[in-house]
Amino acid sequence: MPRIFANTEELLGAEITLVGEAHHYLSRVLRLGVGAAVDLFDGRGQEVRGTIRRTGSQGVTLELGVRSQRPIPKVAPITLLQGLPRADRMDLIVQKATELGVARLVPVRTQRTAQGQQGRIDRWERIAREAARQCGRADSLGLCEVLPMEAAIAGLPADGGQRLMPWEETPNATGLLNLLSKNTTSVTALVGPEGGFTSDEATFAQSSGFQLASLGPRILRTETAAIAVVSVIQACIGGLGST
Ligand code: SAH
Repeated sequence: MPRIFANTEELLGAEITLVGEAHHYLSRVLRLGVGAAVDLFDGRGQEVRGTIRRTGSQGVTLELGVRSQRPIPKVAPITLLQGLPRADRMDLIVQKATELGVARLVPVRTQRTAQGQQGRIDRWERIAREAARQCGRADSLGLCEVLPMEAAIAGLPADGGQRLMPWEETPNATGLLNLLSKNTTSVTALVGPEGGFTSDEATFAQSSGFQLASLGPRILRTETAAIAVVSVIQACIGGLGST
């Protein structure tokens, strides 16, 4: 069953007309016609079964039918503060963070963020919506504009649970898994960009309550580290299937 993202407000009426990418996907890629069923989701747990009633060159209109509210998983939320990497790597991290159930991804401008890297929130939101559609995620990845590290950390909730900072320059730090427990209420992980973190950044993060963590003897690329960190956290707290 095809799943298409639609804003909550668009799902209030008796029908919806999809244009742009959604129209292209249903009409050109899937070649669906009148009578075909499509599931619409708003990323906040609402799912609506739609039936195509009209198709045209400008859009496809669906009658909105059965509605359901899917529970948002009660697994401890994970926030990923991601040192802004090159554009293609950030696209991958946004996609994988969505699939792996990250609640919120905050792009962070660090001292070694590659020059010229800018925020691309519209692109990231589009990638996140497509990943949520593909993986069947009921809610959507929270995103925001790029923030300097100090602001990103200051913006964390005071009771935001455990704060972990994998740092490639402390191979003797405790392994990530050994810093986690099943009772973890929520976790914030801070992963560096391609250039890694400076000592000053590590010191600042530690002063803000981050525990340094090792990901082992190999130096992982930033996108590998982000995926590995979230996977280990989810496996530990039950987000990859209950233990
Ligand atoms: N500067 C490194 C690469 C940084 S990797 C180099 O020499 O190539 C990007 C980020 O991934 C790091 O800042 C850190 O957050 C994380 N990371 C990668 N490998 C790690 C390891 N073995 N232990 C802890 N963190 C690691």
